[in-house]
Amino acid sequence: MHQDTHDCITITGARENNLKEVNLSIPKGRLTVFTGVSGSGKSSVVFDTIAVESQRQLNETFTWFVRNRLPKYERPHADAIEDLSPAIVVDQRPIGGHSRSTVGTMTDVYSVIRVLFSRHGTPSAGPATAYSFNDPSGMCPRCDGLGRTVRPDYDRILDPAKSLADGAILFPPFAAGTWHGQTYTNTPDLDPHKPVGHFTEAERQFLMRGGRGRKKVSVDNTGGARDIDYEGLADRFERLYLNRDLSALAQKTRDLVQGFLVQGTCPSCHGARLNPAALATRINGLGIADCTRMEVTDLIEELGRVHDPVAGPIAAAAVAALERIEAIGLGYLSLDRETSTLSGGEGQRLKMVRHLGSSLTGMTYIFDEPSVGLHPRDVGRLNDLLLRLRDKGNTVLVVEHDPDVIAVADHVVDMGPAAGADGGLVVFEGTPDELRQADTLTGRHLRGFRGVKEHPREATGGHWIRGADLHNLKNVSVRVPTGVLTAVTGVAGSGKSTLVSKAFTEAHPDAVVVDQSSIGISGRSTPATYLGIMDTVRRLFARETGTRASLFSFNSHGACERCRGRGIIYSDLAFMDPVTTTCEACEGRRFKDEVLRLTVDGRSVVDVLEMTAERALDFFERFDDTAVRRRLGALRDVGLTYLTLGQPLSTLSGGERQRIKLATQLHRTGTTYVLDEPTTGLHMADVDGLLALLDRLVDAGNTVVVVEHNLDVVKHADWVIDLGPDGGKHGGRIVFEGTPERLLRARGSFTADHLRNALG
Ligand code: ADP
Ligand code: ADP
Ligand code: ZN
Ligand code: ZN
Repeated sequence: MHQDTHDCITITGARENNLKEVNLSIPKGRLTVFTGVSGSGKSSVVFDTIAVESQRQLNETFTWFVRNRLPKYERPHADAIEDLSPAIVVDQRPIGGHSRSTVGTMTDVYSVIRVLFSRHGTPSAGPATAYSFNDPSGMCPRCDGLGRTVRPDYDRILDPAKSLADGAILFPPFAAGTWHGQTYTNTPDLDPHKPVGHFTEAERQFLMRGGRGRKKVSVDNTGGARDIDYEGLADRFERLYLNRDLSALAQKTRDLVQGFLVQGTCPSCHGARLNPAALATRINGLGIADCTRMEVTDLIEELGRVHDPVAGPIAAAAVAALERIEAIGLGYLSLDRETSTLSGGEGQRLKMVRHLGSSLTGMTYIFDEPSVGLHPRDVGRLNDLLLRLRDKGNTVLVVEHDPDVIAVADHVVDMGPAAGADGGLVVFEGTPDELRQADTLTGRHLRGFRGVKEHPREATGGHWIRGADLHNLKNVSVRVPTGVLTAVTGVAGSGKSTLVSKAFTEAHPDAVVVDQSSIGISGRSTPATYLGIMDTVRRLFARETGTRASLFSFNSHGACERCRGRGIIYSDLAFMDPVTTTCEACEGRRFKDEVLRLTVDGRSVVDVLEMTAERALDFFERFDDTAVRRRLGALRDVGLTYLTLGQPLSTLSGGERQRIKLATQLHRTGTTYVLDEPTTGLHMADVDGLLALLDRLVDAGNTVVVVEHNLDVVKHADWVIDLGPDGGKHGGRIVFEGTPERLLRARGSFTADHLRNALG
């Protein structure tokens, strides 16, 4: 078949990260899936090369003035990247954390609903901004449209076991002995020696709010005794610290006060964020707050009942947008849900909704594992959406491991053959059918077949969760068996994370949660520092070269003086964006020349930091350092030997971060581990490695609980707890608990249905 070259994005000689002169032609107007083990170079092609170059070319079209206000994109390392179309990256980065962003505002559905209420509600509060909680004309005046207010936390301010004279007031500026504090110890109306918790209702009321008519009380200050008006403790706290502009207070005072405040639902709008006029408007008896509080699925039904000839078309527009949210498997969300509380996968799918509604065509859409968090039941719907985006005339690029997504691709690019330095090549290009015949890791796994575990381990005991009712959980009591591997399953929104990450860890606070969040240490962290190998490296260099260990540290006098061991120079010019450049003095190597001249076995300390863990294992072999070999061995066990010892941890993917955290845990026993979707970012071959690792943890006497959709993990578990039957209010119940073999025979469980399908 002849193909015009302009019908393809062509990449020549790409060398980002581990890529080895990659040449690729990616068909435009098609759905292309990138596969390959984790670390093989998929992101290096799709994000670091294609997306960066597209963004860079786009920025070049702006004026100098605009360009200087945009982030800087370096030209990717490649000989040529041609025939790109503008790229839109739909990733899993959390959607802006601010509390004014909700599912309704970010998808724009809320603005349609506002129009509906302003034009057709009775009584109408005005035009559409009168229903916006981000606009002064619509927001609740009490909470400024946040739905929450801060109030003093009197449980923290007062210790009920103590008397006033004894220090019952814990807020330092009001403590016993202070000028304010004397108001309460000296008033004749209260017994200063009676524990505050024993006060009668009237006494407590007097302490907090004072009595009717002001009473005088005598207090001492430097000028001698003085009579002042009594003021209740709560009244005084609110007058001094709440009912005024906090920014007028000194930072120290603000920080202090902050520690004695709590956030609660706004007492005026009860969390609805709008003013009374907006909240009073009704359509078919329904208020706008009722609409945003209900699940999307229910709202579709309610708005479907609006048949008024004028309001009908607007309601229909809202329904169309809501149906896109439902179509992507998020019908269990409500429009008032704050986007900061969504998971990465939910956020990515919501961003997708916005693009589906747009009429853009000729774009390149890039997705990062959109199946994350999706039950196999919903992957079909995801595929439909990807194909619809393609059919509008867009090029769709997806990094994905899910066999069901790979199956609908027009074109597959398989990266490999392995990870890191052993990857970086295109090992296969073609159709999904051809891939199944191909002799690559992905091809072999697509052909493979795995049944359910036949001989599950026996539990050694159980951890109970009793009466859990957070979010959608319906008074759930369940036993999580110890000494085995348990998979918690269920469709998205069924309550898995709530059960495991909230209810379980609250009941069993000693459980170790190994998540994908960033490792909260300095930007200089590397595998070497994180695993505690750096200290040994320093001592080894000191011993072998007869110098001091401190010389080999980035924050010591051995570090390059120009860049202070950072390897880069950060220049902040007055009228331009800050620029970072590689330090010329050390050429980015971070140490002084004289330190680099000190070698062990012909290697400088920088050479050692540039070694992959695999090579470092060989290097340390000679030095008989068991601690270092054990730690490097742990990296191998979690499948991360392709990382170099000095690679900044900030460059790791979520899945890699989760596994490096696991690497520090492998020597423990009797511990309960909780992992939320540990297969994220993992190729089918990596999943085998992960399962071997989880087996090792369990065999060493630990308990492992994983939230998972990956059927290979479910089949391999000793015990399955399935939540459902559906998402949101239709979920939150246990629909099955037992071995995978019994799950195969279970009824009324979507997970069971899909397991049966997968096994043919
Ligand atoms: P994949 O997307 O297939 O998991 P990546 O493209 O993210 O793989 O990574 C390919 C290789 O490049 C890995 O060895 C990874 O550790 C390395 N790498 C990725 N980003 C960086 C970076 N910013 N600096 C150094 N190495 C990196
Ligand atoms: P799963 O992990 O099975 O996808 P979740 O436990 O995340 O499900 O969600 C269960 C239900 O609880 C859903 O209806 C979801 O919308 C709701 N929910 C989850 N987190 C929050 C939150 N922070 N605030 C309000 N509702 C939440
Ligand atoms: Zn309010
Ligand atoms: Zn330097």
